[in-house]
Amino acid sequence: MFLRTLASLLVVTSASLAGEFRVGAARVDITPKDGTPLGGFYKFRGSAGVLDPLYAKTIVIEKDGVHAVIVVLDLSGTVRPIVAEARKLIQEQCGIEGDHVMISGTHTHSGPQQPRGSMMDEITKVNSPAGVSYTGMLPVWIAESVKQAKAKLMPVTASSTLGRAEGISFNRRILREGQPEAIWQPQKLTPKDRPAGPVDPEVGVLVFEAAGKPVASLLNFAMHPTSVGGGVKISADYPGVFTKLVSERHGAEMISVFANGCCGNINHNDYITGKRRSTLELGTALADAVDAAWGNLQPLTTFQPRIRSEQVVLKRRCFTEEQIAKAKDMAANMFTKNFGTVPMAETVCILETVAKQNEPLLAEVQVIAFSEELAVVALPGEIFVELGLALKKASPFKHTLIAELANGSIGYVPNREAFPQGNYEIVSARNEIGSGEKLIETALKLLGEVKKGK
Ligand SMILES: [Zn+2]
Repeated sequence: MFLRTLASLLVVTSASLAGEFRVGAARVDITPKDGTPLGGFYKFRGSAGVLDPLYAKTIVIEKDGVHAVIVVLDLSGTVRPIVAEARKLIQEQCGIEGDHVMISGTHTHSGPQQPRGSMMDEITKVNSPAGVSYTGMLPVWIAESVKQAKAKLMPVTASSTLGRAEGISFNRRILREGQPEAIWQPQKLTPKDRPAGPVDPEVGVLVFEAAGKPVASLLNFAMHPTSVGGGVKISADYPGVFTKLVSERHGAEMISVFANGCCGNINHNDYITGKRRSTLELGTALADAVDAAWGNLQPLTTFQPRIRSEQVVLKRRCFTEEQIAKAKDMAANMFTKNFGTVPMAETVCILETVAKQNEPLLAEVQVIAFSEELAVVALPGEIFVELGLALKKASPFKHTLIAELANGSIGYVPNREAFPQGNYEIVSARNEIGSGEKLIETALKLLGEVKKGK
């Protein structure tokens, strides 16, 4: 009897009426076992202990049988083979087309590494048994979170607003008077220094409510999650604190999902005061910004999800024979000597580019719209903030949320002006100058299409 009641209840909850706009959200724990190779740094770190859990968080949006799926992983990013495998499983297990699925990473620097097909794999030991057993499970966990979210689809209303978090994020590239090359991550500015570019203080807030109760939110801000540091303990970094607080404060049942914006050159190192805010302080400042904006949430005019995605073919950078010889030389000694982050990043980039010179550098740009006022753009790399700001400004939507490190990653994507200024992000960029602008152009074209309903 009990089972029959349960079964009929399930039928009621999963049945939908024509024209209903529905959302379901779920999260699956993806915290690794001790000893799993970590990402985020140019060295091997095996995880030992957990500060806070990692999740695959999913929001499924549906109307009249058309689904859009947003998945964010508490990981340093996403890689193409894992995205492809997860999309395949989702298609098989949930009947949702793979290209209707967006998968991004928060860019936490205290989570497991994924294979990149470069020297980084050797450095981080991601292909060791512990690494393989973790990354092998990722597509399964992602599909499971989508399955659970889909099972919870319910009629909702959607609303959005933009908050502001001032003074917690910083453009980590600095120009010094009389010096052509940018300085990277200074401790404190001198009177001769100025930031090489802006920050994006906007906090995107998208909320889905069922019967007046928040059930899911998508939060968006641009800043590197590097506040935990380079230890061996697992942490979702500030996005973990941020999403936890938003759910605690606005709806215990709500799944809050954080997508990192265009933060390629943005971190939290306050070089004005020299202060280093903690993970808790950063997450709390962002949750406070959401609190302040919550009263301004405006209802969205929702429609059946419209998804477009395009593979953009980019040019790889070119290197001189001298650069290549120097990189090979350094690579030979990289496991015994510490050359520092910037030279190591440059070496890894040069050797990967040389090895893949005959392979096209593909970048998927994806756009998901389900309302007249708001759309989500997915970009596959660490995108400079200038590009994100330009995209938001030119977007035909009032609110444009951007998820970077989505559907794979091509590494750092600087804006055109930044290339001649050199330093870390530039020497480790795989793509030729102008690639970022090409991605933004494509995103704007796709946004135009979904806005018109094409
Ligand atoms: Zn980064």
